[in-house]
Amino acid sequence: MTKDNPGFNTLAIHAGAQPDPTTGARATPIYQTTSFVFNDTDHAAALFGLQQFGNIYTRIMNPTQAVLEERIAALEGGTAALAVASGHAAQLLVFHTIMNPGDNFVAANRLYGGSVNQFGHAFKSFDWQVRWADPADPASFEAKIDRRTKAIFIESLANPGGTFVDIAAIAEVARKHDLPLIVDNTMATPYLLRPLEHGADIVVHSLTKFIGGHGNSMGGVIVDGGTFDWSKSGKYPMLSEPRPEYAGVVLHQTFGNIAFAIAARVLGLRDFGPAISPFNAFMLVTGAETLPLRMQRHCDNALAVAKWLKTHDKISWVNYAGLEDDPNHALQQRYSPKGAGAVFTFGLKGGYEAGKRFVEGLEMFSHLANIGDTRSLVIHPASTTHRQLTPGQQVAAGAGPDVVRLSVGIEDVSDIIADLEQALAKL
Ligand SMILES: *Cc1c(COP(=O)(O)O)cnc(C)c1O
Repeated sequence: MTKDNPGFNTLAIHAGAQPDPTTGARATPIYQTTSFVFNDTDHAAALFGLQQFGNIYTRIMNPTQAVLEERIAALEGGTAALAVASGHAAQLLVFHTIMNPGDNFVAANRLYGGSVNQFGHAFKSFDWQVRWADPADPASFEAKIDRRTKAIFIESLANPGGTFVDIAAIAEVARKHDLPLIVDNTMATPYLLRPLEHGADIVVHSLTKFIGGHGNSMGGVIVDGGTFDWSKSGKYPMLSEPRPEYAGVVLHQTFGNIAFAIAARVLGLRDFGPAISPFNAFMLVTGAETLPLRMQRHCDNALAVAKWLKTHDKISWVNYAGLEDDPNHALQQRYSPKGAGAVFTFGLKGGYEAGKRFVEGLEMFSHLANIGDTRSLVIHPASTTHRQLTPGQQVAAGAGPDVVRLSVGIEDVSDIIADLEQALAKL
């Protein structure tokens, strides 16, 4: 790229990719291979000893995956990234890199339902404890921090409620206690909001959603902000102490501002194995190229749909931060002025039964457990994604019995509204 400081649209298309040096292929090739030939035994030894970067085996690294990693790191403004098989795999590897048995972290209580499960149930088998706090109240995070707290975790734009969080205020709490702030930026994407610019240290994504954007490939990514001092407190031994697997290398000392991404790769991905397939990496790189165009259309369509729903007499409330009278509108204007995202919820006057019937009455909308597809999607969280939660947790997560969640697609907005209109008429 000719400019030192290319714009977001340019990075979305070019970051991390060059024409293939051997064939001249312009699109990123799918390097569908498990392993890579070493130049000689010294080269192999240097790769295995972390003295030199390079491809060994696709569980650890692959050239198609590397393009995806560089692209997302560039879009988020991070120093490095690690792409993995899913958003949940990314979260697992992030916490594995910083937690020891008996440690805890403080997380927002408004999160993707799968993350509530992962943190609250699955992580118990590692003896990692989650403590829930209210993302609208930064002081509630501080109240949960103790000696064994290792991190704070939030979503920039919370799924499914569609609410923006005051990232800078929570980052201040994290900084005061020398803790890294981890932000799940799946719903906003770096097109709308870059958490590293507001004090986050690590960003995670489910690439499955808007970055891939077409509902066809699973993937996740960890972006290293390069901002956190992993050695200062002595609380992150995986980064600050000699690693027996690598002849005593101290990762933070050796790799500086990309140490977290390296540790998640060579100690997490290598040993747990949730590698992304080269094919999925290719699909996600391709998706990322149109992220700015798609995301703006998603936001414009969602705002029009939210405004229309608000006037409908079978709807009791609409929760979309893009609406001027929404309580979250000021935070949206501050953190994400280009738009409020594609996903939001509204309440049906008929409650739980009306929610189920409405979803069944839609024709163009797809009833499924995903967001961020080109297509418009709908779900009734209380009977699906959030059904494992207690009624109290459901309400806290913005997924009460009357709640319907839309992920507004990029079709013609008049067709989206027509489908909603006919389904509401049938209630
Ligand atoms: C989907 C999602 C995840 C989990 O990602 P997967 O790719 O499904 O593993 C995490 N956080 C948010 C906000 C999500 O929407």
